[in-house]
Amino acid sequence: MATKRDYYEVLGVGKTASTDEIKKAYRKLAIQHHPDKNPGNKASEEKFKELSEAYEVLSDAQKRQAYDQFGHAATGAGGGPGGFGGFQGFEGGSINDIFGDIFGDLFGGAGGQARGRGRRRAGGRPGDDLRTTLDITFEEAAFGAEKVITIPRAVACGTCSGTGAKAGTHPENCSQCGGRGEVAFQQGFFAISRPCPKCNGMGQTIPNPCQTCSGTGQEKKRTQIAVKIPAGVDTGQRLKLTGEGEAGERGGTAGDLYVVINILPHDFFTRDEFDVICEVPITFMHAALGAEIEVPTLEGKVKMKIPPGTQSHKILRLKNKGLARLGSYGRGDQLVRVIVEIPTKLNAEQKDLLKRFGELGGDAAHPMYHRFFEKVKNIFG
Ligand SMILES: [Zn+2]
Ligand SMILES: [Zn+2]
Repeated sequence: MATKRDYYEVLGVGKTASTDEIKKAYRKLAIQHHPDKNPGNKASEEKFKELSEAYEVLSDAQKRQAYDQFGHAATGAGGGPGGFGGFQGFEGGSINDIFGDIFGDLFGGAGGQARGRGRRRAGGRPGDDLRTTLDITFEEAAFGAEKVITIPRAVACGTCSGTGAKAGTHPENCSQCGGRGEVAFQQGFFAISRPCPKCNGMGQTIPNPCQTCSGTGQEKKRTQIAVKIPAGVDTGQRLKLTGEGEAGERGGTAGDLYVVINILPHDFFTRDEFDVICEVPITFMHAALGAEIEVPTLEGKVKMKIPPGTQSHKILRLKNKGLARLGSYGRGDQLVRVIVEIPTKLNAEQKDLLKRFGELGGDAAHPMYHRFFEKVKNIFG
């Protein structure tokens, strides 16, 4: 599978480019590589598709954020066993959608203004961001998962639908500031404005507050939220769920919810980036004579060969048995570190056998031991 190019690189913009800059860059390149202008040109066609895909992600604040954090894996374009489609509301907009938007705008069509602007209507005070920690198992981190979390958060009051006003009444424009939300006063030569004290800067007051929420327009509720965990995540990484934070006050935008990943310890496994590390004890007979043993992996037991003469702490590699490479393709490996267990609590017969073994074994059986003490002898006499 070909490696995907970085979306910013595709559009030739910097990581901090504004939505407008991204739009301009896309427009310029899209016209240049448009299939109508290059009939039958396969390279142009591919280029055009690549551009559209990059634009689709980078022009959408939510997708862009996910892409910045997780790379191509976040867009579901990663494929492979860890590939994961539909990250928190990723809709797969067709090329036509982008067309309608960008070219509608370009040619003065009506559809152009909508995207990016006016989506976040400024109203009352915006809601706070929330942060919660989510414990997941090692396997869930490896393969991805869908979890439901329950968090207490402010939601729009059910009785007054978030307006804060009693049924049949409405908020009124503030009499002190006339709805502007701020008042100006003179201090020496300066006119200074500050938030209106009567309406707390909201511009409106509620003469008849809703009894359920006392006029705040909000109530606390334990809410269940579905969270998609992308395969390959690690402890400390955050998933951002836009708009899943506290509700805004009286029509203000909702905050965002940050889910911080915490991977629980596993009986057998630890990780090094996308490799799984597993320590497996073997007997000294296995180590000396070679053996086939069974080792645990993320997908159950697999047989593994121990070559004759394996030393303790040697690392044997099981290809593609690691975690999904978040933001890239494929999987890491499993690294099996074999630990040779020296026998303890020997009975008389075993001791005799080992002594005989020692008498039979020449220097060739233990070259490391032999070399070391030869050297010591040479240096110290
Ligand atoms: Zn209410
Ligand atoms: Zn006021």
